[in-house]
Amino acid sequence: MNQQSNSFLDGLNNEQSNAVNHFEGPLLVVAGAGSGKTRALTHRIAHLITEYKVDPSEILAVTFTNKAAREMKERLELLLAKRIAKYQLDQPWSSVSLVEQNQFRTRIYREVTKDLWIGTFHALFSKLLRFDIEKFVDKEGLKWTKYFSIYDETDAQSLIKEIIIQDMNLDPKRFEPKKVRWAISNAKNQGILPDQFTQSAEGQRGKLIAQVYSLYRKALAANNALDFDDLLLLPVQLLKQNEQVRSYWHNRFKHLLVDEYQDTNWTQYELIKLLVTNGINPSFFSSWSKRSVFVVGDADQSIYSFRAADFRILMGFQEDFKNKNSLQGLSNVVKLEENYRSTSTILDAANSLISNNKERLDKVLKATRGEGELIKLTRCDDEISEAEAVVHRLRLLEAHNKDLKWGDIAILYRTNAQSRVIEESLVRWNIPYIVVGGLRFYDRREVKDILAYLRLLINPSDSVSLLRILNVPKRGIGKTTVQRFSDASSQLGIPLWEVVSDPEAIRSLGGRSAKGLLKFKELIDDLRLSLNNTEPSQLIQLVMEKSGYISELIATATDEAEERRRNLQELVNASLQYQEENEAADLEGFLATAALASDADKKDTAHDRITLMTLHSSKGLEFPIVCLVGLEQGLFPSYRSLDDPASLEEERRLCYVGLTRAKERLFLFHATERRIWGGMREPAVSSIFLSEIPSELIEGDIQLAGGAALRRERRMDRLTRVDRREDQLNSSGISKNLPTNAVRRKYSGPAPGVSWEVGNKVLHSAFGEGEVTHIFGSGEKISIAIKFVGMGPKILDPRLAPIQPI
Ligand code: ATP
Ligand code: MG
Repeated sequence: MNQQSNSFLDGLNNEQSNAVNHFEGPLLVVAGAGSGKTRALTHRIAHLITEYKVDPSEILAVTFTNKAAREMKERLELLLAKRIAKYQLDQPWSSVSLVEQNQFRTRIYREVTKDLWIGTFHALFSKLLRFDIEKFVDKEGLKWTKYFSIYDETDAQSLIKEIIIQDMNLDPKRFEPKKVRWAISNAKNQGILPDQFTQSAEGQRGKLIAQVYSLYRKALAANNALDFDDLLLLPVQLLKQNEQVRSYWHNRFKHLLVDEYQDTNWTQYELIKLLVTNGINPSFFSSWSKRSVFVVGDADQSIYSFRAADFRILMGFQEDFKNKNSLQGLSNVVKLEENYRSTSTILDAANSLISNNKERLDKVLKATRGEGELIKLTRCDDEISEAEAVVHRLRLLEAHNKDLKWGDIAILYRTNAQSRVIEESLVRWNIPYIVVGGLRFYDRREVKDILAYLRLLINPSDSVSLLRILNVPKRGIGKTTVQRFSDASSQLGIPLWEVVSDPEAIRSLGGRSAKGLLKFKELIDDLRLSLNNTEPSQLIQLVMEKSGYISELIATATDEAEERRRNLQELVNASLQYQEENEAADLEGFLATAALASDADKKDTAHDRITLMTLHSSKGLEFPIVCLVGLEQGLFPSYRSLDDPASLEEERRLCYVGLTRAKERLFLFHATERRIWGGMREPAVSSIFLSEIPSELIEGDIQLAGGAALRRERRMDRLTRVDRREDQLNSSGISKNLPTNAVRRKYSGPAPGVSWEVGNKVLHSAFGEGEVTHIFGSGEKISIAIKFVGMGPKILDPRLAPIQPI
């Protein structure tokens, strides 16, 4: 093949080209951050279609977020559109008119991207289930139809709560729905069904949870609903049990591509295996003719073990998928060793940090860009001055760089809760920003309400949705009535809707409830008439108007109601966007998109604003400027990881992900005191990760704040803080355990040179007596955890903290 003429190999190095050129058989691309894995994957899809004449419908590409999927499709569309423009007009893209550019893109959409299956595991396999779920045979005889609803975490937990209280008569304080849901989810992720769960359940509690699991599954089926775990588990079961279905999908998807393969879990791995090998043990699978499986990943960026991801799956790929054609009998591996993203300073910092992990294979990652500027570290008094320092830094950058775009900047943090203080500072300085994560758009009450209407329209069995909207907006249907109908529905074993819409039953009620129910039944029947010939966006508007939802919001006339109304307008916009992106747009498809929209999905290229997000959601992304805040022991790395080496390594990988998001500039922040979990301010020790970055790459460690005024404010704050702390302690009733002022005055400063051991008793000037429970690190890097009487554990730097051994 003539490489010169092939635009999809342009802009790739040799190794990337090899990966893109590879046609049949398995191929693993392992490489560090920013080495062009995702770029290779995208180019490969284009290359398969144009050079190997692969039909787009034979390609299945898995991305980590829906946003990544959308971006990949867009990039592909552009790549292909440029190419046909070049063939047809023989002009560079930049001189093609906008109208023509759009025509080319539309054509590519029609001919190529429309038929491509690109998306997250959940999105792809829920799509597959829409085709074949009715062929699924359940051991317990449970059934689902293609109109199934997808229940998100809130829906799932409310169903579980109902089972715990109503069906099992258990105390929801002892059996917290969230925890029970977690246990069930864990089981599902390992492919464990209720009967097996019951067998291995330990103690009475375990047995009861097993019972909840069994009832929960039945309730899901009765509602014709699936939770997120089912979207993967059911396809595994279906593909295993039904040879016809399996062969169909095996024959259809000849080319599988998976990005971020290090974060695959065993259920997902099972799905890939079933599709690629049609159920044959992968080691023996040899019919690789015109078929491939292509995965890219970086074990150092595996950060989802709490969702059962396991990077051993990546490590095992070569052994698993052997290629009989290749010389060693092992599948091919391509290693990419050049980083195209970051300056060498940033890269050296990241490489040095990650080399502290023991459980890893060392690999090469060379910088291709210049040295760039030093990393800046800022130490702040507390989380408020940290937020101010971040903003101060951003405004300095703005002042020195006229071309600076807010969209080039990301502020990353370990936990969602950290965003609030930063947001407040950004608002104060009028800097535009968007928080990715937090409360998802689709989790907002009004949005969920309207979606519940839509779900009920296509899936009358969906009682969770029905219960949500039966009396929303208010129709005078009382709680007792609802309870009576619910009981009748479970006793008769028929969907709630059938009971609620039975004219006999309604008439038997009389009064306000009956009137309300009749109105509701008429509304739903009426809306259903429009179901088949109305676009999702119009249907949403119909629901909002006919249900009286919008008029109620308008009548309420508060700011909050106005905000809710705007959110509903945004829902209409979302459905319009969905219709634009999908030719065969239907309500089921839109509802699935809404249910599966993830934290990182907010698309925002139109506005120039700063992105705030957790480190977890930043994976795969890049920004010219990155601020990473909260680098403190117990926050990042997280408290839980401090005495668990495996979790600490995972936290370090997360830090590696964070550092490697930056292209040009990296700013690190930590505070010496922080209020966590809405509790007291606590002293904070700088993160061990900071000490793992070579000091010659870092400058700063300076006390920095937004000008003299702020410093004054902070001084005031410090002066009042002790009083405030005392107030809090008094009101929380734990002050009796604290030393009296007399004891506090006796305190004579930190204890230098003491060698600490677990079990040592100490006296802290503010927290009183405590016992050392853990020691982390030594020498310069030492920090210790102390359990104080009547309080939770605290992590302190013994060289700075006001403690003395007693
Ligand atoms: P991560 O591990 O963070 O997901 P990655 O390996 O997927 O990173 P990409 O996002 O594909 O890396 O690429 C990182 C950056 O380098 C992107 O801006 C990309 O456009 C650029 N890039 C990739 N390959 C090349 C290349 N051969 N020449 C120039 N730039 C490249
Ligand atoms: Mg990538």
